[in-house]
Amino acid sequence: MRTTMLEFSPPLIGEEEIAEVVDTLRSDWITTGPKVSRFEKEFRETVGADSALALNSCTAALHVALATLGIGPGDAVITTPMTFCSGVHVIEQVGARPVLVDVEPDTLNIDPVKVRETLERRRHEGRQRVKAIMPVHLYGHACDLDALKEIAREYNLAIIEDAAHSLPAAYRGRPIGAAQSGGPPILSCFSFYATKNLTTGEGGMLCGPRELVDEARIWSLHGMSRDAWKRYSAEGSWYYEVVRPGFKYNMADIQAALGLHQLRRLPAFHARRTEIARRYNEAFRGTPSLKIPAARSDVEHAWHIYALRVNPGALAITRNRFIEELKSHRIATSVHFIPIHLHPYYRDRYGYKPEQFPVAYEEYQRLISLPIFPRMTDRDVEDVIEAVAEIAEQHGSIARSQEILSAELGVGA
Ligand SMILES: *Cc1c(COP(=O)(O)O)cnc(C)c1O
Repeated sequence: MRTTMLEFSPPLIGEEEIAEVVDTLRSDWITTGPKVSRFEKEFRETVGADSALALNSCTAALHVALATLGIGPGDAVITTPMTFCSGVHVIEQVGARPVLVDVEPDTLNIDPVKVRETLERRRHEGRQRVKAIMPVHLYGHACDLDALKEIAREYNLAIIEDAAHSLPAAYRGRPIGAAQSGGPPILSCFSFYATKNLTTGEGGMLCGPRELVDEARIWSLHGMSRDAWKRYSAEGSWYYEVVRPGFKYNMADIQAALGLHQLRRLPAFHARRTEIARRYNEAFRGTPSLKIPAARSDVEHAWHIYALRVNPGALAITRNRFIEELKSHRIATSVHFIPIHLHPYYRDRYGYKPEQFPVAYEEYQRLISLPIFPRMTDRDVEDVIEAVAEIAEQHGSIARSQEILSAELGVGA
């Protein structure tokens, strides 16, 4: 048994990051400036994007993407219930309607077949005009992008990718965020929040076609038609024009200083995450009460989150109790995610019933995210494996009490 708690997802900040932040602090240029420009350029090159805009969060990137595409009142955006709330929130915030579509049972990513059904149905009913699809590459596993692009092309929709988990992920050999030749417009939104695969403390990046990212840049900084930092530098001038009711979402050089060095470490971070996932898979594959995460052969998985599932039929305890047991073994865990339609705001606003998105609802009750982060030692990984195996062994049973069956009928966070 461990003597200290294994945290869920602490960051890995090196001396280079610290030195670069200090350099920024001593430079007299602490907000958006040369380091943000460098970070944008290096990020763009890393994922092969046409253009990149550094922002202060992924939520900001998603919000700016909607504004850039002119999505607002009377419009609708299709997205998934199996996500963090922020993508759905920004759809609400621009006055559009989020339309939830259930997920595929293996990846828990938005189901393209159901996206098409939803679009067909709405066309018949003459409901609000769907303008975009906002898929989430959940856990770092790419969605079925070819199917979604085909649908987007047919229905004349944009795609706003919530790529918060998917650095560095790829779909059919193409990195998430990479430039497209032809097809529907795609804007990709990355997160550099403290727990994410690359962190700037808080931060995000919007990648996409140059014209759209240029427009997004205006939206992201007060709707001003010039970069503020150029305004005050030698080549700049005092004059600017406000052409949009824009946001204040720019990234600061202090954040970019972190990002520049995190980006260099990304291949090593990714290799370590992949190795940990491989070990977990090896250990848990074949345990009747457990189901390892899906990884389709046409994706490069970013392994942001390792979402194990329990098989209730082969376990005498609930998922919630499993989490408690792991905690008593000093292993921190989480659940990704409580589906959007179960949260009071969305449940009440749209009258959602839990079973309305049956896959999201059922699978949610089986999910346990295990620690996976580059700083984990082999010993840490072994501790997790031993704890999970011990709990599964101890409570593995097909005889299930009435108490457990009824407990599972409630949602219970
Ligand atoms: C973390 C996260 C976000 C939000 O990212 P921020 O940078 O914190 O705004 C959005 N979507 C998903 C799926 C996330 O996990």
